[in-house]
Amino acid sequence: MCGIVGIYNVPEASKLTALGIHGLQHRGQEGAGIISYDKEFHSKNAYGLVDHIFSKDKIIENLPGNMALGHVRYSTTGSTGAATIFYNLDFGGFALAHNGDFTDSVYWREKLSKEGAIFQTTTDTEIIPHLLARTKGTSPVNRLIQVLNKVNGAFSIVALLDNKLVVARDSNGFRPLVIGRYKEGYVVASESCSLDLIGATDIKTVEPGEVIVFSKETKEIYHLDKKVKKHFCIFEHIYFSRPDSVIDNQLVYDVRKRIGEELAKETYIDSDMVVPVPDSGSVAALGYANQSNIPFELGLTRNHYVGRTFIEPTQQIRNLGVKLKHSAMRLFKDRVITIIDDSIVRGTTAKKIIDLIRNAGAKEIHMRISSPPISGPCWYGIDTPNRQELIAGASSIEEIKEFIGADSLKYLSVEGLHRAVQGKGYCDACFTGQYPVNKRSN
Ligand code: SF4
Repeated sequence: MCGIVGIYNVPEASKLTALGIHGLQHRGQEGAGIISYDKEFHSKNAYGLVDHIFSKDKIIENLPGNMALGHVRYSTTGSTGAATIFYNLDFGGFALAHNGDFTDSVYWREKLSKEGAIFQTTTDTEIIPHLLARTKGTSPVNRLIQVLNKVNGAFSIVALLDNKLVVARDSNGFRPLVIGRYKEGYVVASESCSLDLIGATDIKTVEPGEVIVFSKETKEIYHLDKKVKKHFCIFEHIYFSRPDSVIDNQLVYDVRKRIGEELAKETYIDSDMVVPVPDSGSVAALGYANQSNIPFELGLTRNHYVGRTFIEPTQQIRNLGVKLKHSAMRLFKDRVITIIDDSIVRGTTAKKIIDLIRNAGAKEIHMRISSPPISGPCWYGIDTPNRQELIAGASSIEEIKEFIGADSLKYLSVEGLHRAVQGKGYCDACFTGQYPVNKRSN
């Protein structure tokens, strides 16, 4: 997942960057980093949450300058490394933060390694500076654009080089990126909720295939060579983005509510109450309850001081996280419950939640999921690892129902999801297997 922020021409840019990445904390909790630039580059990366890393004035004072970029990171399978990366190249310093996965990273890493490149991390991001070092062009920015034309897959990036801030989005626009004004400067972030927090105005989407270069005098817009074919990640609407973010002129909260309404139309069952799995199922459950005229109850409490189980790196931590995370209100005795969540990834959370409700005395538990079954991995930057670990990759809905212990289990259909999202140009590959960009390994 990951979240990125870029600030241009704002005094104490790193302060605003820290605020911006704090607003994106839901996109990654493993680590965070900021790189700022005055006459030279200054960097701080660490494991942990943004407020732990950047709350001390001293840390921000050590990141001076009026441009900066920041990143919150979660690790995709097998990938470890700093949130932001920095390289000294022939033209000077190059700082980068990246959200997304390249579909040709295996190819590029092998090719570059054979040519003598030494990788310091296992992240895709490092491919960019290595390619940049080997690419000739009329200016550092021109070289970066050439590099972005070479790589494939998903990338929303912010970069500092040659006294400029460069932001770019791949021509499928898999991952979000928005831009706004702040006083005399510009701010860029993965989601509008981060720019709202900063106090930015004139917020717009960075379009797929766009490269925007901010320099002292100008804001220049370039376009990548590949034909634009929008495939925005539909999962951003279901789960990843914060409900107060606006994507493609649609408030995520409104979309998520419509998703819940569609789910109720498709999978209605009579029950005493509709209960969301907090927080991820809350808005869809509200839509479901409105549509079905069944009382909405916040029957589960979530401990907010435990990280999101979906995005933590190891199974051991995930299992512990689920236990620590939710508790049941004393509402369920002898009642029929419709429980709503946004997805079932491995099934461990759903199973534990159903156990929790069953142990609290529920008579029947009907699980409704506000997305279609996730049957394949994401190749574009989301940690839905491999088919074997995805319960819907290997099991039928009936088998999943048995595994989680529900009395019934139903999912939203792909058609219902698209009706709710209301628009074209979405990637839904992890549900349908129709991947817009193929992987390349050699
Ligand atoms: S495969 Fe799924 S998670 Fe990945 S970009 Fe497509 S819709 Fe989003």
